[in-house]
Amino acid sequence: AEANVGVVGLAAMGASLARNLARHGNRVAVYNRHYARTEHLIDNYGDEGQFYPAKTVKEFVDLLEKPRTAIIMVKAGVATDAVIDELAEYMEPGDIIVDGGNSYFKDTIRREKELRAKGLHFVGMGVSGGEEGALLGPSMMPGGSDASWERLKPILESIAAKADDGEPCVMHVGENGAGHFVKMVHNGIEYADMQLIAESYDIMRRGLGMTPDEIGDVFEAWNGTDLDSYLIEITAEVLHKKDPQTGKPLVDVIYDHAGMKGTGTWTVQTALELGVPVTGIAEAVFARGLSDQTALREKAQADPFRGPDGHIELGVETREAFIERVRQALYASKIVAYAQGFNEISRAAETYGWDIDMAHLARIWRAGCIIRAKFLDRISEAFEDGAADVSLLFAPYFKQGIEASESDWRHVVATAAEVGLPAPVFSSSLAYFDGLRAKRLPAALIQGQRDLFGAHTYQRVDQPGAWHILWAEPDQKEVKMAD
Ligand code: NDP
Repeated sequence: AEANVGVVGLAAMGASLARNLARHGNRVAVYNRHYARTEHLIDNYGDEGQFYPAKTVKEFVDLLEKPRTAIIMVKAGVATDAVIDELAEYMEPGDIIVDGGNSYFKDTIRREKELRAKGLHFVGMGVSGGEEGALLGPSMMPGGSDASWERLKPILESIAAKADDGEPCVMHVGENGAGHFVKMVHNGIEYADMQLIAESYDIMRRGLGMTPDEIGDVFEAWNGTDLDSYLIEITAEVLHKKDPQTGKPLVDVIYDHAGMKGTGTWTVQTALELGVPVTGIAEAVFARGLSDQTALREKAQADPFRGPDGHIELGVETREAFIERVRQALYASKIVAYAQGFNEISRAAETYGWDIDMAHLARIWRAGCIIRAKFLDRISEAFEDGAADVSLLFAPYFKQGIEASESDWRHVVATAAEVGLPAPVFSSSLAYFDGLRAKRLPAALIQGQRDLFGAHTYQRVDQPGAWHILWAEPDQKEVKMAD
């Protein structure tokens, strides 16, 4: 046995992670189902560190020092199960299997339980940052036993992204599925963030008639504000990019259908199961869905609906002033999306018995991952002093931020609606905020309706118990159904 760690699955992510490990002095066993990928890694990057290629799973396991540590980076789902089964056949009690793929957290909970019964440690680890992150330093979110974390910690801390203050972007998130859960929500927040940027772009492009270059400059400027983040930065880069074939702005030659791989959908499905409104993330997932409804969109072009064309008439207001309103709307909506995402994590932690340090979680998202942003420092501080326990929105920094943005946010949502520009995350975030502010919600009327058609009962504001009106009786008496 020569290797202190191994990687199974050497496609984009696994190969990069293996190289990152080797570059940091690890002795890395590598295995891939088709040997060609292993060969490619050794031929091209074999001199970056100590690699130990294996042709079979057994050979791979034999190369690992005991207790063994193997990281799997293969397609989520059945491929991951297949690889785990193969490894488990040769591994021994005390060994660790880390699944670094984008696995569904409930699969991770199941796998951990099955492998624990065999004496193996199973760690479900979210890895963010794409191929480049995996190579240069990803943000990693492992979930599993304390014992496995003790052993993984030095290895993972050495290869993780480092925040500006030097802190490695990796933490023990919690037991079993906790790591994959927070990675899932990270991706959900990423969807909302991207959609908000896209809505801002659309308002400037179609609403104000600006060019991609001009809008790229705006995003570049925004990157020097509270919005400072990786996604804003790359947005400017994409908008400034010219199509190599035609010389037109690249964004104009890209087919306007957004793809997705499933983590956003899982975030929303899980939020629905947990009963947590994540309206920003949900609308972002649905917006991608609508973009890809080809037949529906073609029909709407062939047989157009009457309505305004999206052009915004600024009147006396300057373009710069309106753009600043859009920035405020983006900032406020972004706070809501993050608040909702963190609420989903807290609810899951209660439901699944995970002890997740939210302040620390915000800190490990400061570098390496796709949603890395300056304001994660502020989020971390808000959780640190307990101000965000109920919602991030109540932490003074964010409460003040949202209050300062509020009127611009409304103006932008109202304008977009008036001129016919879709802004689903801007507007749903504002509706959530106003729902939260309302002293009384029309939910009272809904309870009345539910009692009438389904005898679902209602609670009174002035007395305890569950009440029901005998709607079908001539005298429509009220009866108490339960205490
Ligand atoms: P892919 O998701 O494209 O998976 C390809 C790898 O899976 C190959 O090594 C392939 O082996 C292996 N594989 C597929 N089916 C099987 C099977 N039945 N048995 C054994 N091995 C199998 O690779 P990526 O590198 O893009 O991603 C790896 C994991 O990381 C995925 O779970 C992904 O969701 C996750 N991830 C990806 C990110 C990204 O930016 N791409 C970011 C964060 C996480 P073979 O070569 O033999 O076909």
